[in-house]
Amino acid sequence: MKKTFSIGGVHPDDRKISAGCAIEVLPTPKTVYISMAQHLGGPAKAVVAAGDKVKTGQVIGEPTGFISAFVHSPVTGTVKSVGLRKDLAGIPVVHVEIETEPDEWMEGIDTSDTLVTEIPSDPKFILDRIKANGVVGLGGATFPTAVKLCPPPDKKADILILNGAECEPYLTSDYRIMIEKSSQIVIGAALMKKVLGVGRVVIGIEDNKPEAITSMKAAVAGLAAGSPDYSGIEVVTLKKKYPQGGEKQLIDAITGRQVKSMGLPIDVGAVVQNVATSLAVYDAVQKNKPLIDNTITVTGECFPKQSNLLVRVGTPLSSIVDWLGGVPESAAKAISGGPMMGKAIANLDAATLKGTSSILFLTEEQTRRKPETNCIRCGKCAEACPMGLEPFLLNKLARNGMMEELEQNAVQDCIECGCCLYSCPAYIPLLDTIRMAKGEVIKIIRSRSAQKK
Ligand code: SF4
Ligand code: SF4
Repeated sequence: MKKTFSIGGVHPDDRKISAGCAIEVLPTPKTVYISMAQHLGGPAKAVVAAGDKVKTGQVIGEPTGFISAFVHSPVTGTVKSVGLRKDLAGIPVVHVEIETEPDEWMEGIDTSDTLVTEIPSDPKFILDRIKANGVVGLGGATFPTAVKLCPPPDKKADILILNGAECEPYLTSDYRIMIEKSSQIVIGAALMKKVLGVGRVVIGIEDNKPEAITSMKAAVAGLAAGSPDYSGIEVVTLKKKYPQGGEKQLIDAITGRQVKSMGLPIDVGAVVQNVATSLAVYDAVQKNKPLIDNTITVTGECFPKQSNLLVRVGTPLSSIVDWLGGVPESAAKAISGGPMMGKAIANLDAATLKGTSSILFLTEEQTRRKPETNCIRCGKCAEACPMGLEPFLLNKLARNGMMEELEQNAVQDCIECGCCLYSCPAYIPLLDTIRMAKGEVIKIIRSRSAQKK
């Protein structure tokens, strides 16, 4: 029987209408804007100034703490400014603006297509390259990868899980890289396996992606035949169900282990990385190439050209959209990410980040919310919740500002998947209220633990 997670979940229409679009390379734009807040944790500190000449792959931002990451120039050119600019959400963040010229890569970066399969023997060398090349998690959280690969001394991983579920409707960038860059992803997995010292790696892919499954299995078999460094790596087919790609859901589906409330995957011996992160790890370690580009899906029924594009980090969304023919009149809303968990894009002048996975255009009809009616206590939201929460109750508590009760009912465990909202026949904006309440409760929990220290 195909594996899946045990609690809740929904089955939205997957609408992978860009699945057949092979990855194309977007021409480098005239100007790029690189955010210093591309990752979870402290924003990087810009180390260039207006007038500086930079090369492709040069460090332009340095980490500001343990949980932070290097940022590199995705282009060659001249720094025009360093200052505040609005990001995708419309929030002012420090960006480095660079006017581009033809690429001149930093020395030591291998830009050839040669596949490097030999795994370095020293885990520290691997880890140092991941850190120096600014790799962050590309599954949504953008947590610095080098930090995630170093569990605290009292915790030990025994399994690395690669997330190839891509369970959000519309998104196909992971699907395309699993077909087109399968060997690189498997080599990335072997590199992380070496750092973690685990014997087992499972690459989980949903059954609506048979071509990706075939391609990844062939890559694993081919590499395992050539070196013992690739032993213990397997591809597992998962039953399609949203949110299969949630860390806790994936661990449940693959190992049957349950991560407790407020717990982390490492508590049950697991580390989860996205397939796109694994590709970035390959580039960082085997090619010494920083994370300066990523594959982005541009899609939506109202959009004229479905695409999967390899885009330099810092590319204005408007450059991408213009290259594809411009925004159609019928598009009412643009979303970064999928329709279930994605965030509205405040303006198309904002630039892509390392973690940007898609631009989804929706029509007025697709975004129109139906008028909210009274809760009929049908329980569908609770049935759908993959975290075993009671969304109808959390919504009620949130609307009444009952923070203590919200914490007791584990609002902090909400993964903001939107299954409750998707299931509710009364069209109650459960996700909005619960997400806000979760933010408040997490602030309370953090300040309480800070006071205890
Ligand atoms: S958004 Fe939160 S409360 Fe709603 S189904 Fe997902 S985890 Fe449960
Ligand atoms: S799904 Fe909607 S109507 Fe049904 S119990 Fe939950 S909140 Fe109430």
